[in-house]
Amino acid sequence: ARLKPASAVTSICGYCATGCQLKLHLDEQGRAINLSPQAGYPVNLGMACPKGWQALDPLDSAERATVPLLRDETGKMLRVGWAEALETFASRFKSLKEQHGRESVAFLSTGQIPFEEMAFLGCLFKFGMGFLHGDANTRQCMATAVTAYKQSFGFDAPPYSYADFEESDVIVLVGSNLCIAHPILWQRVMRNRRNPQIIVIDPRATETAQAATRHVMLKPKGDLSLLYALAHCIVRDGRIDPASIERTEGFEEFSAFLADYSPLAVTERTGMSVEEIESLARTVSEPGKRVSWWWTMGVNQSYEGVRAAQAMINLALITGNIGKPGTGANSITGQCNAMGSRLFSNTTSLVGGHDFAVPEHRAKVAAGLGIPEEKISSEPSLAYDQILAAAEEGKIKGLWIIATNPFHSWVDSGRLAALREKLEFLVVQDMYYTTESARAADLVLPAAGWGEKDGCFINSERRVGTLKKVRQAPGIALSDFRIFRLIASVWGCEDLFVRWTDPEAAFRLLRDLTQGRPCDITGIEGYEMVDGLGGVQWPYPAREDGAPTPASERRLFEDSVFYTPSGKAKLLFSPPAPIPEAVDREYPYTLLTGRGTSSQWHTQSRTGKSDILRKLYPQDAYVEINPKDAARLGVKEHDMIRVRSRRGELEASVYIAPTVKPGELFLPMHYPEVNRLTHSSFDPHSRQPNYKACAVTLEKV
Ligand code: SF4
Repeated sequence: ARLKPASAVTSICGYCATGCQLKLHLDEQGRAINLSPQAGYPVNLGMACPKGWQALDPLDSAERATVPLLRDETGKMLRVGWAEALETFASRFKSLKEQHGRESVAFLSTGQIPFEEMAFLGCLFKFGMGFLHGDANTRQCMATAVTAYKQSFGFDAPPYSYADFEESDVIVLVGSNLCIAHPILWQRVMRNRRNPQIIVIDPRATETAQAATRHVMLKPKGDLSLLYALAHCIVRDGRIDPASIERTEGFEEFSAFLADYSPLAVTERTGMSVEEIESLARTVSEPGKRVSWWWTMGVNQSYEGVRAAQAMINLALITGNIGKPGTGANSITGQCNAMGSRLFSNTTSLVGGHDFAVPEHRAKVAAGLGIPEEKISSEPSLAYDQILAAAEEGKIKGLWIIATNPFHSWVDSGRLAALREKLEFLVVQDMYYTTESARAADLVLPAAGWGEKDGCFINSERRVGTLKKVRQAPGIALSDFRIFRLIASVWGCEDLFVRWTDPEAAFRLLRDLTQGRPCDITGIEGYEMVDGLGGVQWPYPAREDGAPTPASERRLFEDSVFYTPSGKAKLLFSPPAPIPEAVDREYPYTLLTGRGTSSQWHTQSRTGKSDILRKLYPQDAYVEINPKDAARLGVKEHDMIRVRSRRGELEASVYIAPTVKPGELFLPMHYPEVNRLTHSSFDPHSRQPNYKACAVTLEKV
């Protein structure tokens, strides 16, 4: 029989960065028994994708971590109580610190937990426990956009609002399969009544490309050359906006640089004809048209993603498409709280949108948190890949992984198994015992998941929203926030965190730290206000006269003033680099990876626990290949084929489609084998891994 709800609360979905609000239907004990999308929320307008609809299912999985597990000397995992688990945690990590110093232990965290928890972790680990290095899995999705915005605008500031999808005349999606990666945002595109041109720039004929008005099927990693060629044509033809260029620095140098990027000069690298490039350049610079540029992982997950993102920023700037309705150079975030991580995780940036290297920032944060200033190091953390490299070299000997699964998701994941042997102590704090990373741990700390705790996420359009506790975590699992409090106590640094009593108290501390920064949210009183306003986009500063702050801003830079010292945006560029692992005779195919479905999330840790979501997606790996390659290899649909790179191999079922060009193939990232193949190369500015193009060979099994 269907249960009748006694009441309802709202909560932001815990998967992607769209930030849909869900209405959770509660029984008389306040336990969620069902959910539906929230009709009036300005983000999702009553819609949700399959993951959101099934958000409660993964909480009931038999694979939930319910008690701490500790590996004994025979290698067996034994159930232990919290006291033993935390004493072991503290004694092992303290011992490493005493013997090898503050750089011997690191954490790897996530964009999936509330920012109050992220901030607590970052502050506890660095200021309380006295270590230096920690990074988040946002390095795998958003680091490129963060760096691009910081360098160009002076702050990590995605300038847009989702309403811009509906107000644009030309929507250019670069490396973004919006239809399935951000399905509700695609619905926002469908609500556009201006008859927009929808242009998809992607080497693969994705679902989005097939629904677009124009698909630019360029060669893998031809994006940067193409974007420079578009700018070349626009500058050459004078289709620029002089007033907007006045608000930039470096236009003369940029114009000179573009001389080498005529359409003819980039045909080889892009695979496009001169006519196609000239036509596209005219479309994205048409006078009087609102042009918006949007990108996701096809750009970010690259060895030159920062410059590709900045090439779009440059195009928006020189054509006057920034700070106005329907415009912008807009990064769509990946995870539900990637933006929260960017501002509050205290990893490579100091908490609250500050900089470890700036003495005034350290003093301000120390005063705001009530901790001695000398606790805040002026040195930033190593990035994710550098932490793993230090572990491989034996310099980092202890690792604490929180709510992420690098043993599946990291590039060239086979390296993780070897690295594991070098680690003296590995702690994994997670909802499940069964992730690839939890299985490798010496100690598993059982954590509550989405739906079992309170806090805030910040979505792609900078909107703060709340999530609610509507379930009790199973067994003796605890919220990450509570685990951090216990660790502070066991470590002996709880005096530094007496004000971190609960998530909302932490929210107020963090809110106050943002004062005067571009992400200032001091106008938010508390969670109730966030809910009452339908989420709050930053900036939302408190007014000096004490009057209520008016409605939040919809987009940034409407006044054309940027966050750089001069107030001008910087036009940044450098020549495209060669693909780190190009095809050759031995490995003649280019492997593309990406999201394969709207019904699964990343490594399937949670969505793989839902019966319904599993039925919506093949459980075993498949590989998309072109009909010509299938004929050459003599394989039919559903035959098994071996895909091999220099680092590893997998077997997958064949899916034949002209969605990829001959010589290219696509593997969805949701299967654990896929990253055995990918290549360890990184953007030099953002340290983001390059998941998108490596060399492989195919053999019929
Ligand atoms: Fe919305 Fe993303 Fe959640 Fe789907 S996964 S319901 S698109 S927030």
